Amino acid sequence: MTDTIFAKIVRREIPADIVYEDDDVLAFRDLNPQAPVHVLFIPKRAIASLGDATTADAELLGKLLLAAASYAREQGFEKKGYRTVLNTNEDGGQTVYHLHVHLLAGRRMTWPPG
Ligand code: AMP
Repeated sequence: MTDTIFAKIVRREIPADIVYEDDDVLAFRDLNPQAPVHVLFIPKRAIASLGDATTADAELLGKLLLAAASYAREQGFEKKGYRTVLNTNEDGGQTVYHLHVHLLAGRRMTWPPG
């Protein structure tokens, strides 16, 4: 897969407002927030999009979701709720081809999404 801006963030080649990191996952604030809290959770080992994930990535995908849930809990959004989103390819609205989970919190979300 081609290099992306998120891979550059993982390598610390470009700055980001990092809020969480462990061996496998990095989380940073979205540059163009769509909610009071908008954080992106990415695997350090790049997968282009959800369609490229395999069973070998199952644990990593689980870690991304659990890291997002844990951050939301720490920030006090457990009771009120929040939204996690994975945009996949063109119709899904994906613009950066390094798989990421959006965590949106701090406002009431609507459904259906735009
Ligand atoms: P998606 O459209 O699902 O691929 O989401 C990509 C997200 O990355 C968008 O919400 C952008 O605002 C965000 N984004 C793009 N470049 C950066 C960056 N350098 N730092 C933080 N967020 C970014």
